[in-house]
Amino acid sequence: MPRKRTWLQEERRKTLGDWVAFCPACGHAQRYFEGGEAALPSACPACATAYLSRCPACDARIPSVFSVECEECGAALREPTRFGVPIRRASRR
Ligand SMILES: [Zn+2]
Ligand SMILES: [Zn+2]
Repeated sequence: MPRKRTWLQEERRKTLGDWVAFCPACGHAQRYFEGGEAALPSACPACATAYLSRCPACDARIPSVFSVECEECGAALREPTRFGVPIRRASRR
């Protein structure tokens, strides 16, 4: 008989992920592992907005739930003020 891995063992390996996908509208986020991108929901389970898992400008992946701009190219990933905490950009004069 072939040995089966239980789903529980699989789940334990997945307690954290390498990358993150999030909803730009409500901030709902989900971590995923390298190679697990295909299993991500395409839309937010909370508000049905399309999930963002890559930078729209350069296709870089998103390493942190708290990312506001792409670490590679600096493109805005979401509205920094949507979450009630305005994030200051380095544009002071
Ligand atoms: Zn959402
Ligand atoms: Zn980018």
